Amino acid sequence: MSTSSSASVPCPDVESLDAILPEEPLLMMGAGPVPIPAAVAKANAIVINHLGGTMAKVVDQVKTMARYVFQTRSKWVLGVAGPGSAAMEMAICNLAWNGTRMLAIQNGFFSARMAEMGRRVGAQVSTLEVPDREIVALEQVEAALRRERPEIVTIVQGETSNTVWNRHLKDVAALAKARGALVIVDAVCTLSTMPLEMDAWGIDAVITGGQKGLSSIPGVSLIAFSEAAWQRMKGRDAPNTHWCLDASLAENFWHNAGYHYTAPVSGVLALHEALRLVCAETLEKRFARHHKCSVALQEGVTALGLNLYTPAACRLSSVVGIEVPQGLSPGDICAYISRQHQVEISGSFGLPIVRIGQMGEQCREHNLFRTLHALGRTMMELGAPVDLPAGVAALEKSLSGSGRTAARQ
Ligand SMILES: *Cc1c(COP(=O)(O)O)cnc(C)c1O
Repeated sequence: MSTSSSASVPCPDVESLDAILPEEPLLMMGAGPVPIPAAVAKANAIVINHLGGTMAKVVDQVKTMARYVFQTRSKWVLGVAGPGSAAMEMAICNLAWNGTRMLAIQNGFFSARMAEMGRRVGAQVSTLEVPDREIVALEQVEAALRRERPEIVTIVQGETSNTVWNRHLKDVAALAKARGALVIVDAVCTLSTMPLEMDAWGIDAVITGGQKGLSSIPGVSLIAFSEAAWQRMKGRDAPNTHWCLDASLAENFWHNAGYHYTAPVSGVLALHEALRLVCAETLEKRFARHHKCSVALQEGVTALGLNLYTPAACRLSSVVGIEVPQGLSPGDICAYISRQHQVEISGSFGLPIVRIGQMGEQCREHNLFRTLHALGRTMMELGAPVDLPAGVAALEKSLSGSGRTAARQ
């Protein structure tokens, strides 16, 4: 017979975080989350009232700085408590509903997620499937726009999963706009790492997460709507079934200093600091730093004797995909480099690659040397021959301005 005390849930005996976490933090060089600057970590340790004058000032500055990063003058910038995918869902579920005609340009895992979210809100989603390691042809976009007459087009700027860069984003947006469609862009891994001009390119919603280009913490994200997108959202007949993600309700907190839900105050403070650092650096310099570091990493990896996954014409710079040598698996490489070299890199949803991020704080020269060295050593120790001195030399040459790219210019 069970007594009341044996039926209750016993108090568990668990390990402390100190016992679980490595003594020295691992170097986060995967596809996100990325290392955070000290100012971001410090802000993330603070809790303040989610309502009131101090928070209102913080929110106001977050919006102002985000407008610079999104390159928009639109009023409608909001934060989201949630991952990049919550910002994505916020874009989709406010602008699409039952019967909305939506065209999803699908390059891989993340752009497919937008299509799936569209289906879930009842939109009539047609997909333009782009083969792996290719970008969509503008003629195909034009044909699909004619055929499907979408009210909304979704596209990813950088498809992190297969490391493809949609370099014609601006032209795709222009075509969609000319046909009267609103354009939603997933810039989760690219924002602040490469140019994206929301207003000038005619984009209607841009989404991003905290933990990638911005080098903030995961879990607090940003979204910007154009005036046209905001009007569409305001004009909908049926209310949004996603209460937390309803932009009309979120407006209360992000624009009227009122209550929607208790904002993740620490995360918003962290985001504030991440954005402040972007502004202090300026976008121009930040883009240049990202470009320089990514090119150097690519040259270093190539000089090791490894192959990059994506052809140069559509290669994403913010996340670099590397083919896994015969006989090895992405999982083995990631586990080994983490355990033996305290560097974290990523696999990719079944593709035969490992991925090294070049987002925010990952783009620092000392992080590149440690990562390339760890990668080269890992390959050798796992039995894949690479030329480690040649790789490190190529990295140094590229960073110091005497590498292959510099020579070509
Ligand atoms: C990481 C990523 C996402 C998803 O972000 P989460 O924060 O994991 O939800 C979406 N799109 C792209 C392009 C990404 O890189």
